[in-house]
Amino acid sequence: MSGPILPGSVIGVLGSGQLGRMFALAARRMGYRVHTFSPDSDTPTGQIADVEITASYDDLDAVRRFASQVRVLTFEFENVPAATTAAAAELVPVRPSGEVLFTTQNRLREKTFLRQHGFPTTEFRAVRSAEELRSALQEIGLPAVLKTAGYGYDGKGQHRIASLAEIAPLESVVQQQDHILEAFVDFACELSVVAARGLDGALCHWGPILNTHSRHILDTSVCPAGLPGSVEKEAVAIAHAILEALDVVGVLCVEFFLTRSGRLLVNELAPRPHNSGHLTIDACVTSQFEQQLRAVCGLPLGAVTQLKPAAMANLLGDLWRDGEPDWTAACRFPDVKLHLYGKVEARVGRKMGHLTTLADTAEEALRRVMAARAALRPGR
Ligand code: AMP
Repeated sequence: MSGPILPGSVIGVLGSGQLGRMFALAARRMGYRVHTFSPDSDTPTGQIADVEITASYDDLDAVRRFASQVRVLTFEFENVPAATTAAAAELVPVRPSGEVLFTTQNRLREKTFLRQHGFPTTEFRAVRSAEELRSALQEIGLPAVLKTAGYGYDGKGQHRIASLAEIAPLESVVQQQDHILEAFVDFACELSVVAARGLDGALCHWGPILNTHSRHILDTSVCPAGLPGSVEKEAVAIAHAILEALDVVGVLCVEFFLTRSGRLLVNELAPRPHNSGHLTIDACVTSQFEQQLRAVCGLPLGAVTQLKPAAMANLLGDLWRDGEPDWTAACRFPDVKLHLYGKVEARVGRKMGHLTTLADTAEEALRRVMAARAALRPGR
């Protein structure tokens, strides 16, 4: 095996959103160069990268040209087609591998992988027709959640089904693309473990992190999560075992439900740095983005020590509804850190930035970050 990819080298990123932007910031701080590839221009990642390539993921000649100019390739967008990573992998290491991406970019493949490896998930069935929807509902019971198998994130393409009277409009929906039906989990809380695995197999984690969602989109994250020690230990053990089973090199986030009876169920995997791990930028010796860089470059992993309890609150496009948010008001909270992603258009539900704060306790950090976010609303 050749040695690590050292500062000064070019790292390629497939995708150009905020995750690529924060990765690029970490990479440039350590003296790397970053090239990004996506169908868009003037992107959150492109604004930070040395080179921004605008081309379709299906343009495999453009993908090969891009790959030929970088030392290692990673991704920040889960829906990169398998053919794209395969074309790139002919020329350059892709980390995590295209196989990891392929397994995790489809909920059915992902949950089947988890079940086959004995990881706990909610009951689920594949749904490819109206008949399969009816029989799956009979087997799983109500309430249930219907999700598209592919291309779903932040609750997009999800329907909660509480009664059989609701399935008529969904019958045509399930004919159009593959779906998964899941038993609805009446959870006590949601948590995540963001973990990383180096090229040498070394493992580390940040978390567990306690998360709240609003309209299916992550709203706040807090670490430490303050859950019973046995639950936290089990969540970390599951996350590490998943990274090993998938042979991940890089960062992967495992999202969990904790049921009211104290059982952990894996809801979803994200084979990349995750929104719930953004607080690691300000709160930890090594952030999830720097760790991704170290892992994909074959460098030793950095310490994940958390400096203080921390909380993060997302800033969605909704905040812009009545005008530009009041940034000065947020900056009056001297210990709150503002992160904005450089997105020009603020749409409802679009992730535009986040706030993080550190405090002596997790509760105090959450209270302060929520107060700072409330102060942002224009005209207050
Ligand atoms: P997902 O896109 O699958 O991560 O779902 C987004 C959010 O929807 C989750 O974080 C949960 O808050 C909620 N959700 C998704 N699936 C279920 C389920 N089977 N039972 C209960 N809530 C769910």
